[in-house]
Amino acid sequence: MRGRTQPDSFLVVSAHYDHLGMMGRKTYFPGANDNASGVALLLELAAYYARPENRPACSVVFLLFGAEEAGLLGSTYFVQHPLVPLARIKFLLNLDLLGTGEEGATVVNGRVHEAAFRRLTFFNEAHHYLPRLTARGPAANSDHFPFSQAGVPAFFLYTRGGSLAYHDVNDQPAALSLAGFAGAFGLARDFLNELASN
Ligand SMILES: [Zn+2]
Repeated sequence: MRGRTQPDSFLVVSAHYDHLGMMGRKTYFPGANDNASGVALLLELAAYYARPENRPACSVVFLLFGAEEAGLLGSTYFVQHPLVPLARIKFLLNLDLLGTGEEGATVVNGRVHEAAFRRLTFFNEAHHYLPRLTARGPAANSDHFPFSQAGVPAFFLYTRGGSLAYHDVNDQPAALSLAGFAGAFGLARDFLNELASN
């Protein structure tokens, strides 16, 4: 999405497409929470920014990676062969595991980028998007990590509570409450809109 007034500044929303596939011939890992839920939230944000009235001042890039589960291979490749200059990325928001939310959400790097985390907390409290937002430090647990290592400010947002299925055959759509999905959308939208206008 090309920005209105600062097309050479970028906000990035990312999510990984892949999951674990098959184990043997019969055992299938559907990956509803990890990470169809993150892809779904990315698509909701893309649909929002595609509307002319929501076109932001800076550009918004949507990145869908493969091979996250194999060791962040897609995002690592992108950082080594970027399609937009990494230094022009104002912030990256990575979406992974967003199908629950009964207990709120956690923000990886929330303790690294404290001012940005305070803005997230402000929006969350003002609009009651999620029951709780918890900050943690750096972690190499999803596609934000290669960007963080390259100096790009990045958060990884994931919801907590509800289904505990993770990397197993029970990670299915019916197991997900989506309790925090609408809240996570509002939070991401408000956060990105403010960054876009600064
Ligand atoms: Zn994942």
